[in-house]
Amino acid sequence: MKRIAIVGGGISGLAAAFALDERRRAGEALQFVVYESGPRFGGVLFTEQVEGCLIEAGPDSFLTEKPWAADLCRRLGIEDQLIGSNDGDRKTYILVKGRLVPMPDGLMFMVPTELAPALLTTLFSAATKLRVAREWWYPARQSNGDESVGALVERHYGAEMVDRLADPLLAGVYGGEASQLSARAVLPRFVEMESKYGSLGRGMLAARKNIRQSQPGPPIFSSLKGGMQQLAEALVGRLSPDVLRANSPVQAVQRQDRGWVVSAGYASDQFDGVIVATPANAAAPLLEIASADLASELRAISYSSSVTVALGFGRDVRATLPAGFGFLVPRREGKRLLAATFVHNKFPHRAPIDRALVRCFLGGSRDDQVLQLSDQDILEIVREELRQILGLKAEPLFARTFRWRSAMAQYAVGHLDRLQRIEGLVKQLPGLALAGNGYRGIGVPDCIRSGEAAVQQLLS
Ligand SMILES: Cc1cc2nc3c(=O)[nH]c(=O)nc-3n(C[C@H](O)[C@H](O)[C@H](O)COP(=O)(O)OP(=O)(O)OC[C@H]3O[C@@H](n4cnc5c(N)ncnc54)[C@H](O)[C@@H]3O)c2cc1C
Repeated sequence: MKRIAIVGGGISGLAAAFALDERRRAGEALQFVVYESGPRFGGVLFTEQVEGCLIEAGPDSFLTEKPWAADLCRRLGIEDQLIGSNDGDRKTYILVKGRLVPMPDGLMFMVPTELAPALLTTLFSAATKLRVAREWWYPARQSNGDESVGALVERHYGAEMVDRLADPLLAGVYGGEASQLSARAVLPRFVEMESKYGSLGRGMLAARKNIRQSQPGPPIFSSLKGGMQQLAEALVGRLSPDVLRANSPVQAVQRQDRGWVVSAGYASDQFDGVIVATPANAAAPLLEIASADLASELRAISYSSSVTVALGFGRDVRATLPAGFGFLVPRREGKRLLAATFVHNKFPHRAPIDRALVRCFLGGSRDDQVLQLSDQDILEIVREELRQILGLKAEPLFARTFRWRSAMAQYAVGHLDRLQRIEGLVKQLPGLALAGNGYRGIGVPDCIRSGEAAVQQLLS
């Protein structure tokens, strides 16, 4: 009988546990335990219902094109609970000099693939529009080393594109900065396109054509009817309660002659293998004794924190808010808000027809201090900035604030080299595998894939 410990009961750890359970049910002689330091499983997947509104405290959806989350839902038998974003209403605004400007049509992530809308928009200055037009003839370029996303985008489109698009988009997704995040780790497709096509615009257009041919446009984002927590609950529901150890913070994961010892509280237990599925910087101290070098590499993966604030309003406000999914705020605008989602438009059934639900994001790598503020102070900042941006003066019917400390991994320039070193060090420790958002993707589907890959690695 092989015994495996999983440390961390977020989506990465739960996906690993379910993959192990599938193997156990298929007849493999396996036992496993999931240690979670907190009182509940799911990590940052956390959903609340307030006055008929479905509030996501952490992730609200996942990218449909990444198959691992939907595949897990199918294996869990909750495929019928999957929903898509309301893409007919998919417009996103950028705050430019205090006004919301819609992102031009044809923009894929931050790359213009249609010239006319990019030239007609008020989002870009004449100089950037000229760069967009010229970019079409950008020559193919092989890059040897890594660079920041900001440097790559600036080379193609100039600094304004970084300020107005790349930086706010990365702040929204990673809580990070274009000048710090690694192009190879965060946007590997851009690096490939640059080496194959030169122009990112032409590369994206080619990719878009391929997608259109193979699929008739599935929604960009998928989620679950009951919110993202429904996925964690389905996983927990399929695992035996005996294997789920909540309120069990692990202090150390140490090697022993024939396996591993996991110490949690006053108890230690022996295992043949361990999957450490915590954030990388939380994995570092656990593995310090097993390998100081590994711990040091893990510690070097930095994390940013974020705050989400959900505000519910009545029918009158709903009628006055812009159409579309929400807006992003470039740093230059001098606000603490990074982005806001109009949830009632993105996932209409998440708010009754007479409610507006606005979800705001603050924090990120530039504003860790916001986490120290009281809920009341954060609410005042959010309300004042929504008043400035949207003219929204109404008193919210309800407000919920959630803090996520060190939750978003920052893949800094050189991240892939660091991963290689980490993987080399892990290989020297048979029976150890790592999973989580610190390594090869921060999104929910990537985390699920990481948990499943960790199981594969241990049992192959
Ligand atoms: C506000 C926010 C919005 C996001 N939005 C999206 C989105 O819309 N779409 C998307 O795809 N992704 C999104 N993400 C990213 C994605 O949700 C996360 O990367 C992913 O859920 C991380 O899962 P995880 O299991 O790796 O880590 P976590 O959820 O952080 O779970 C790790 C678990 O390990 C536990 N733990 C830590 N140390 C120990 C220890 N010593 N012993 C035992 N347990 C321990 C923690 O308590 C925690 O429960 C968002 C993230 C945040 C914070």
